Amino acid sequence: MIQVICDSCGKEIRRATRGANYVTLLGYDLCMPCRDGLMHQAGKETQRKEGYQLKTYETVYRETLRRMCK
Ligand SMILES: [Zn+2]
Repeated sequence: MIQVICDSCGKEIRRATRGANYVTLLGYDLCMPCRDGLMHQAGKETQRKEGYQLKTYETVYRETLRRMCK
C-alpha cells in the first residue's frame, strides 16, 4: 500500500483511495477536509472579484491551491 500525505495539512491519509478519501489536483495530494476548504475559499475569493466567472474561478482555484500547499 502506498503512503499518501496531504500536501496542505501534512497529515497521512489512511487507506488512501484516490477519489474516495483524497484527491490529486495539479500534482498535489489533498485530503477531503483540505479539498473542501480549497473549494470554499476559492469560491469566496472568486465572488469578491467581478462576480462568478469560470475563468476567474480557475485562476483563483490554482492560486489558492498553491498557497495551501507550500
Ligand atoms: Zn489535508
